[in-house]
Amino acid sequence: MVLYLKMLNNVTESTTKNLIGDYPGRDEKSNEVFLLNAHLDTFDVSQGAQDNGCGVILAMDVIKVLQHLKLKPRRTLRILLTPNEYNQLGVKQYISAHSSDIGSHIGALVADSGCGRPMGYIFYEKFPKMGCILFELSLLFDKTLTILATNQSLTSGDEFTAANLPVALMNGDDGRYYWVRHTAADTMTHVQAGDLDQILGFWATTAYILADMPKIKDLIQ
Ligand SMILES: [Zn+2]
Repeated sequence: MVLYLKMLNNVTESTTKNLIGDYPGRDEKSNEVFLLNAHLDTFDVSQGAQDNGCGVILAMDVIKVLQHLKLKPRRTLRILLTPNEYNQLGVKQYISAHSSDIGSHIGALVADSGCGRPMGYIFYEKFPKMGCILFELSLLFDKTLTILATNQSLTSGDEFTAANLPVALMNGDDGRYYWVRHTAADTMTHVQAGDLDQILGFWATTAYILADMPKIKDLIQ
């Protein structure tokens, strides 16, 4: 069989922006920042429900959950929503704009693997201690989670790691994500509400504990 595909693509220059919001920490550690990152743009024909609409919802709803539970971690949780599909430009811009205070950043949590049920965490081999902390964290959950190491994830995690920030990547991929990723099928009809609830609980717990742990900088960097 011979398949002939004709695809049109118009590339134009335009301006895009990072969206940033702080949930200030509760004590003297509030000048230290944990980033909650997801990306605002999507790829080609996709509506982007899971790549990365779910990640954006999670970053914002983590704060809603903590507010609802009247929980405030010691450190500031900073929602950082970026345009990333083209060369991770949003995260690169943030890192360059914050070069003078990048030392106040303790780490980044990146949710960019759809919104299936939580499977576990991915950390970067450059920061093995982060892997140890994530393993300990995984024991808190009433389900077996996996902890995977990587050198490259093709997400914004690569840029944070290059800037010497330890990263916890959510592994929300239960296989079905790659059925829809970067396709016209990435719509809300393929998002399960129950899965989204589970992954929100998982991410809110992770964000609170990491941002609240007394000596987290020594433990993960
Ligand atoms: Zn993505």
